Amino acid sequence: NLDAQQGLDYVFKLVLIGDSAVGKSQLLSRFTRNDFSLVAKATIGVEFQTKTIMIDHKTVKAQVWDTAGQERYRAVTSAYYRGALGAMLVYDITKQQSFEHASRWLKEIRSHADRNIIIMLIGNKCDLGTLRAVSTEDAKQFAQDENLFFMETSALESTNVETAFLMVLSEIYRIVS
Ligand code: GDP
Ligand code: MG
Repeated sequence: NLDAQQGLDYVFKLVLIGDSAVGKSQLLSRFTRNDFSLVAKATIGVEFQTKTIMIDHKTVKAQVWDTAGQERYRAVTSAYYRGALGAMLVYDITKQQSFEHASRWLKEIRSHADRNIIIMLIGNKCDLGTLRAVSTEDAKQFAQDENLFFMETSALESTNVETAFLMVLSEIYRIVS
């Protein structure tokens, strides 16, 4: 098959999920292209971006899907979640509401995605510490209660972005290999 021809051992699909404007698209460009833009752009057309990494001497292609402005409740279709092995559930640490909505998104992930999907809760924009509205402790507690990995990131300053994606990909690898 084509993946084997390209020398790939694995292709893992990940999905980005969470309220609008929390930084999903910027996390994706930071991870796949080491790029960031302060100007919010609507995600149009492109459904996913990829990045190939090595885990345990194996070639793993991460195929990361981004919502194209479907962040309204229940607008994300089950096709988006189909085959996803990992999910990055993103909120904005300066927007309490985006954190409150995390439980709603979690319900949606759990009703559409594979039972064994690896989910990481991500508190993005941690560079905006002075505007913080969601405490690290509250988020940690929620993640622990719901059995999620948790990390605070900044797509702007590149903090923990690669670490977060690699943690999810490694965990998926650990399970499927
Ligand atoms: P999306 O709707 O979830 O895809 O959000 P975007 O990725 O389009 O980002 C929304 C806005 O937040 C844009 O203006 C980004 O530049 C900004 N943004 C994204 N990530 C960060 C971050 O880590 N820190 C700061 N300060 N701004 C960010
Ligand atoms: Mg976007």
